[in-house]
Amino acid sequence: MAAHPAVQKLPELPHTIVGIDVETTSLDPADGDIIEVAAIRYELSQDGTKTGREVEELVLLASPRQPLTDQITAITGITNDMVKEKPPFSALKSQVQEFIGDDLLFAHNANFDISYLTSHGLTITQPVWDTFTLAGAAWPTAPSYNLGTIAQQIGVAVPAENNDASRTEHSAGYDVRLTWELLQAIRRQLQLPADQYEVVVRLLQESKQSHYIPLFRIKNNRPDTGNEREKGEAGGAAISGKTPVKKNHYSPAQDAASILGTGGLLEQTIPAFTARKPQVDMGKTVAGYLQNGGLGLIEAGTGTGKTFAYIAPAIVRIEQYKRKSGPPGAAAVPIVVSTHTKTLQDQLMRYDVPQLCAALGSTARVSILKGRRNYLCTHRLEQALTRPGRPHPAGRTDAWLLIKLLCWLQQNDSGDLEQLNVSHQDSRLLRHLHADSISCRQICAVQRPECPYQRARRAARQADLLIVNHAMLVQHAEDAALPAAHIIIDEAHHLLAAARDATRRDLSEQRLAEVIGALAQLAPEEGQSGRHIRTEAAELTSGYQQILKDIYSYMQAHTAVGTIRITNTLRRSAPWQKIVQQVDVWESQLAFTLGLLRSTPAPGKRINLLEDAIRQAETAATEVSRFIHGDPERIQWLEVSQYRQNYELKLHDVALSVKDSLARMYQSVNSCILTSATLTVSGNFSYIKKRTGTEEAGEHRFASPFNIRDNMLIYIIEDSKDGVEQSYEQYIAATIGSTATLLQGRTLGLFTSHAMVKAVYEKLVKELNKEGIKLFAQRMTGGRHNMVERFRRRPDSVLLGTYSFWEGIDVPGDSLSAVVIPKLPFMPPHDPVTAAVAESEGLSAFQHLALPDMLLRLRQGIGRLLRTTTDRGAVILCDSRIVKQEYGSEVLNSLPPATVKVGPSSDLAAALTDWFGEHTLARWHGNRRAKKK
Ligand code: SF4
Repeated sequence: MAAHPAVQKLPELPHTIVGIDVETTSLDPADGDIIEVAAIRYELSQDGTKTGREVEELVLLASPRQPLTDQITAITGITNDMVKEKPPFSALKSQVQEFIGDDLLFAHNANFDISYLTSHGLTITQPVWDTFTLAGAAWPTAPSYNLGTIAQQIGVAVPAENNDASRTEHSAGYDVRLTWELLQAIRRQLQLPADQYEVVVRLLQESKQSHYIPLFRIKNNRPDTGNEREKGEAGGAAISGKTPVKKNHYSPAQDAASILGTGGLLEQTIPAFTARKPQVDMGKTVAGYLQNGGLGLIEAGTGTGKTFAYIAPAIVRIEQYKRKSGPPGAAAVPIVVSTHTKTLQDQLMRYDVPQLCAALGSTARVSILKGRRNYLCTHRLEQALTRPGRPHPAGRTDAWLLIKLLCWLQQNDSGDLEQLNVSHQDSRLLRHLHADSISCRQICAVQRPECPYQRARRAARQADLLIVNHAMLVQHAEDAALPAAHIIIDEAHHLLAAARDATRRDLSEQRLAEVIGALAQLAPEEGQSGRHIRTEAAELTSGYQQILKDIYSYMQAHTAVGTIRITNTLRRSAPWQKIVQQVDVWESQLAFTLGLLRSTPAPGKRINLLEDAIRQAETAATEVSRFIHGDPERIQWLEVSQYRQNYELKLHDVALSVKDSLARMYQSVNSCILTSATLTVSGNFSYIKKRTGTEEAGEHRFASPFNIRDNMLIYIIEDSKDGVEQSYEQYIAATIGSTATLLQGRTLGLFTSHAMVKAVYEKLVKELNKEGIKLFAQRMTGGRHNMVERFRRRPDSVLLGTYSFWEGIDVPGDSLSAVVIPKLPFMPPHDPVTAAVAESEGLSAFQHLALPDMLLRLRQGIGRLLRTTTDRGAVILCDSRIVKQEYGSEVLNSLPPATVKVGPSSDLAAALTDWFGEHTLARWHGNRRAKKK
């Protein structure tokens, strides 16, 4: 094949490269010291299919200015004894400089190593390959790009002959060698068809990163096993390698008991399956609704196995429809299952549904449909990649995101953006590349076979069982877009919030800046009209900035909490009326500018960009106007949020009531089942019924099959130090610290604020480190998925997190033996939605809304403790309001039927020792000591 003209002048692989890694005393080069540096030179094979060889190495230890802390020793394996006789790095830097010479460098997360080395006196002007960035393009859906994790995921390791005892894991030398192995895997993976390769080359050239070009190759036609492997994993439907399933003879007349019960079909076909009575009972109930219709609420306690209890009867019903003439009426999809979390969607799609379909011999077509914004818009991607259409050459971050998307589309054509692992910076550009209703309706009204969203919708219409999330469910029910025969709503305690969120419209200061900025960028570069449009756009910018400034001043004068609801009283006030007038003037100015832009001729592809920008500006203007003028059917509030050093004003707007749209949804189907582990408050369904408009629904409760009284202790601390923030943090840190020390880790802390997680982490990390206990904390030590996995694998660890950790964490076994809850999980007291709903319905915001909401959340948090019949542990409630406040009795009534004790902090250790028993605690401590040796 003849090379593209640009390809002929491309840089080639260098002959030698140097891998580099530093170990340091802090994350910040300005105040940290280098305590180890490793540099290893490799000779590269010019043939992409071969690797190269190690030529020489330089590994040096350096003494820091201050003694090493335990935390640094724990991370690096370097002790004070190892470095006390060593020279400081300043005395070693010339040796390092000489060794690396002019060779191209490579490192994992190279910015860190290079900024440390340059801050400590080295001059580095040569190009650098960052394997962290490259791994993102090579494996776009990998959950983590940490060196150890990505290496493990793709199955690379330092060969034994390069890994002698002196090179301990995570030392600088080891990390360089592991990075080298990763680099080889990246070179094998980064292969693209010729046309995509050319786009990558152009993006790298434009963003001044041409030195990366030799790492990419044009794909030949031989099958690529690496890509195929990832395609299978990301596709989500494959079940190979999962629990083996024997096929059995299934008859559509089989009832829930003969499938789920003792000696039933599932016990015969799925080796790990054990029948549970509550699951059978729930299965019968679900089957009844699917046969006879109706609206039902089902609370299924922890361990019931509720997904099997509703999927099994659903598949039976689908098979019955298939044998007859399909679902009744105009229903396009026999059964829709809706969940709140992506985790549960994945579990259903990857494991539960395929497993049950296989066991029941069903050929049901199963599909998943997500919100439009979850899909990559191929039309917008084309625009972003087309040079003449882009206002600017790609920056480095944007270039890598576009390369990542191109590589991803080669591996997986689902276009489901949730599968991508993207950084915060990536998500800025990604916001412009997803499908949205305006573009789909106005730009792309025709069928586009390659459009992921259109493909997903077509598959959804043909599905027998469709999995969606609550927001999608409500939206489609409202639009009557996917008429279903039956709806099963799991995690139904989130339905109300999700339905309301589906009506939400947010507008940020940053979004306004982008919208108005795009108008100026698209004005003709020369001529009178271009100048005119740019002047108008500049005035529009200063106009909205002045409006936001006035709003901000108003907020500062009227609230100290960063959030203010726009009430009718506020709307009538003089300052707000002034803002309304300013907005009216600004809107007319915007309309005038858009008119100018429309009348300006735009060449070729630019016209699409222009139309898109005009539509975005019109939408933003409508939202601002609607917000400022108000709508009695909606709740509107302003929020000032802080990101790093900057403050940003946001306008939020949601529907006041979603009960009517939910009611229409229930009425549009034969049956609708709402299920969750937590639907009742103080033992009854009244709260959920009233909030979700299900007053007429049937009520069903299936208790957990676990022996909760014998296996769960709830210890309520009666003398916790409420209200005194400094000592309160200290107190919570001490409670978690002493619990974790007693149990040798095995503790989950569930918080209500990130600030508390941070404060407690900082107070605990050193103490637990001394005990050999690893501490993971949200936003401090990694991503949620990664931390939960590590917590699950390491019993000697502690995990701290906020609301996303109260649900969906499933850690069976003794890795999770204690749940510590510092505060009852009330929503923030100034929550605008609660206040507005209470006001409109004449309710007490606290008694009728905040309290029951908190009780549901509390029960979810407590539900993390017991995940199997053999699990045993303790929940420690540190909030003494349970015993001091009148509403405490409702808290007590909502707790699971555990062994409950109320006592002072000073008795906690004795109560835990008594509960777990000396023998168990001695075994856990013994395990720890054995591991240390
Ligand atoms: S239909 Fe919508 S998402 Fe699909 S390519 Fe067109 S604009 Fe993009």
